[in-house]
Amino acid sequence: MNKLLQMENLERHYETPAGVVKALDGVSFEIHEGERVILLGPSGSGKTTLLNCLSALDSPTGGEYTFMSNQTEGLDAVPRNNSEQMTSFRRENIGYVFQFFNLLQDLTVLENILLIQELAGKKDPARAKELLKLVGLEAEVDRFPGEISGGQQQRVAIARSIAKRPTLLLGDELTGNLDTETSNKVMEALVSACKQENITSVFVTHDEGLVKYATRVIRIDSGKIVSDEQTNNDSSE
Ligand code: ADP
Ligand code: MG
Repeated sequence: MNKLLQMENLERHYETPAGVVKALDGVSFEIHEGERVILLGPSGSGKTTLLNCLSALDSPTGGEYTFMSNQTEGLDAVPRNNSEQMTSFRRENIGYVFQFFNLLQDLTVLENILLIQELAGKKDPARAKELLKLVGLEAEVDRFPGEISGGQQQRVAIARSIAKRPTLLLGDELTGNLDTETSNKVMEALVSACKQENITSVFVTHDEGLVKYATRVIRIDSGKIVSDEQTNNDSSE
């Protein structure tokens, strides 16, 4: 599989009155297409900072980050310290699933997906319905978010996040609000959606129970990677 992105000695330091906080302190890894990475670490270890750098929401203060966008020859430097370029990088490449589902309550399940397609300039009701079917919600398309469960709402959010076919899908504690059984259903929907759509993913969690859904587990502590292992779970097939 092709290399999708590479970070080399990435740093994100914060200058604070109490001194420098090294939220990321020399992080290096590559991610290949089709991988499903779980990023595990205790609170304050740098997980959110790393996701924000991966998605170009935040700018690293040191090191290199390159990404294969739009099937160009190789990997290009990801923009930093330029909000316009960072926004267009995100728009072209990144999907995001939030812990709080952020669905629009006045729109039906289907309309929530159609809205995102419209914003991206490609309204396609057939594909919207297909995505909702993929996450097991074909019977709920005309309901409002307030009329379905939290786990179902998170599955709508997943369908929404992949509607634009992102190259890389990211999530921060996306099952943090859900009970174990519901988390499992959401993760199963996510894995089958990523496989079907050939989407690479990185999910942050502190829940060891989610490791079974990953092809690779990276552990981080104090801004440094402490282990990086493939699991026995299948990669994209
Ligand atoms: P996690 O998501 O693993 O809980 P974070 O990435 O949010 O950790 O934070 C990593 C470290 O960086 C923590 O020590 C945190 O206090 C620090 N940090 C995060 N944001 C800022 C900021 N804006 N200013 C100063 N320190 C910060
Ligand atoms: Mg965090």
